[in-house]
Amino acid sequence: MKTYKLLTPGPLTTTDTVKQEMLFDHCTWDDDYKKITLEIRDQLLTLAHADSTTYTVVLMQGSGTFGVESVLSSVVGENEKLLIAANGAYGERMEEIAKHNRIPYVIYNEHYNQVPSAEKIKKMLEEDSDITHVAMVHSETTSGILNDIQAVAQIVKGAGKTFIVDAMSSFGGVDIDVPGMGIDFIISSANKCIQGVPGFSFIICKKDKLEESRGKARSLSLDLYDQWKTMEADGKWRFTSPTHVVLAFARALKELEEEGGIPARAKRYLDNNQLLIRKMKEFGIRPYISPDHQGPIITTFFYPENCNFSFQEMYDFIKERGYAIYPGKVTEADTFRIGNIGEIYEEDILKVVSLFKEFLETRQEV
Ligand SMILES: *Cc1c(COP(=O)(O)O)cnc(C)c1O
Repeated sequence: MKTYKLLTPGPLTTTDTVKQEMLFDHCTWDDDYKKITLEIRDQLLTLAHADSTTYTVVLMQGSGTFGVESVLSSVVGENEKLLIAANGAYGERMEEIAKHNRIPYVIYNEHYNQVPSAEKIKKMLEEDSDITHVAMVHSETTSGILNDIQAVAQIVKGAGKTFIVDAMSSFGGVDIDVPGMGIDFIISSANKCIQGVPGFSFIICKKDKLEESRGKARSLSLDLYDQWKTMEADGKWRFTSPTHVVLAFARALKELEEEGGIPARAKRYLDNNQLLIRKMKEFGIRPYISPDHQGPIITTFFYPENCNFSFQEMYDFIKERGYAIYPGKVTEADTFRIGNIGEIYEEDILKVVSLFKEFLETRQEV
């Protein structure tokens, strides 16, 4: 089988040692396994700069969206109201979740290349006192923009509301002081910056807010409070857990620590990202997001001017030579995306840039 590295922002390329952990069929009910679950939860708390007196961690089966849906459908009550600040497909997905679960909500849609404005959110909170919760995405993977959760957190906390952050593609790759900012629920998943494989999401929760959500859940399997209560008792998951994924994740956390923790990983990702953007610029390929808002995870690039090739042709050429890239997702321009998280290093960035150059040169000759 011909393999390639993933330049997609999750699933991403993991180490062989993380994959090897999955060769063992672990029993779920015994103390060893429960201990692994408890340790994972503790380590995630530490990565979030939180401690177990005020925060806790819930692991939830499924992909990242299951985690977002679990939070929104479990913590916003029937007589409460959610404000969603969206500037990409993942913010818009929160609206889909709200609709499906009949959660009362309002949405503030921002342009895909702009960050949601804290001022605007402040005004909306002043004008609509029914709003009880505010939700937004940190790293909008749609475009690669990094939203200013710090500024919004200040407004939301000042107004005494609950703040929910989808940090799926940033947690572990960008340092986030969860208690410092006053975030109440922050969601990420196993297959992004922690560099595990897909299979569950995790939610770092402010304990008192989680307690308040008791009995509000609209779904049995996604009930955040019940999942927590079961897990909190002795580390047992409610319903079958993705055992192989859990073992791989425990290993991935260890490797994150060995790399030097979030500061070292964040630096590697940022270096990858800046090198990529600089090199692509050298032959006229420009990023969609301006430098002041570009995040370190994934970059949206405009197609080069006057190009006469499809994304598929470019994708095939690069995949054939060892890397899988990503189609664009912004609606108003022709773009493609390159992620730089996972087991990706300077040499990979230089290699993929040279492949682009080679591809463009072969295209110009015909
Ligand atoms: C990956 C991602 C998700 C979750 O997507 P799944 O396909 O359900 O794993 C949610 N939000 C953001 C910002 C993401 O990058």
